[in-house]
Amino acid sequence: MACGTKLNRTRFAPSPTGPLHLGHAFAALTAAKLADPGQFLLRIEDIDQTRSRPEYEALIGEDLHWLGLDWPQPVMRQSERLSAYQAALDRLAALGLIYPCQCRRADIRAALSAPQEGATPVIGPDGPVYPGTCRHRSMTDAGPEDAIRLNAARALDYLELHEIAFEDENIAPGLPHRLAAQDFIAGVGDVVLARRGMGTSYHLSVVVDDAAQGITLVTRGKDLIDSTWIHIILQKLLETPTPRYHHHRLIRDQHGKRLAKRDDARALKLFRDEGVSACEIRHMLGF
Ligand code: GLU
Repeated sequence: MACGTKLNRTRFAPSPTGPLHLGHAFAALTAAKLADPGQFLLRIEDIDQTRSRPEYEALIGEDLHWLGLDWPQPVMRQSERLSAYQAALDRLAALGLIYPCQCRRADIRAALSAPQEGATPVIGPDGPVYPGTCRHRSMTDAGPEDAIRLNAARALDYLELHEIAFEDENIAPGLPHRLAAQDFIAGVGDVVLARRGMGTSYHLSVVVDDAAQGITLVTRGKDLIDSTWIHIILQKLLETPTPRYHHHRLIRDQHGKRLAKRDDARALKLFRDEGVSACEIRHMLGF
């Protein structure tokens, strides 16, 4: 390594809601390889306590060790970080950039199909773009039944940002992905930063935690690339550094369908139990 080259710090951030499959193995091996000779971390993304299970967390550790990976202890667990997420929300509230929202999915669907809306709903990274029903509400009247949303137009205005840009080192190195502010507002919109009863969301936690862990290179599947716009905006609002990005390919089954946790036919544990070696799995995935 050349003198002065910065070491990478990467993380693999699974949710313990099912057994790891080949797609996770590929993600973890990619993060570990791109960290080398820097640091590879494991982070447990268990904000959804209704779906997270301790037995799946234990299995994540076993599977990753079996694959030959290691990481420093203690492991960051998002369920223990609620005060950090609350601090970030407080900061955004003080800037007047978030609001409480009581709409359920059905309310949003109904608002979007109302005749005056006309056009077909735009689908963003988190589903239909929110029509703004609760945007007039203030955080002072937020209750336990509310989610918290970002006021996207106000946030971009506050940042004086006309365009969001990031470079992906894997997909198009040297060619930044760009999105005009008005396209973010129209195509992504007022995303949820804290889900009802949860105190946070994937987007908020990932940004707060990547900053807290000093992650320099975020590696994750291409399916999350459209979330990166949201993360860049949150990093700017929270004044945390923007890491580098590497969105990798997704592992698919023989029919071309992306592997999901519920199809545990491809669970690493099953390969292990059948006597397949970690070396064979690494080889199968190109490592
Ligand atoms: N927890 C996310 C997942 O399981 C990954 C988060 C990320 O890498 O940004 O897909």
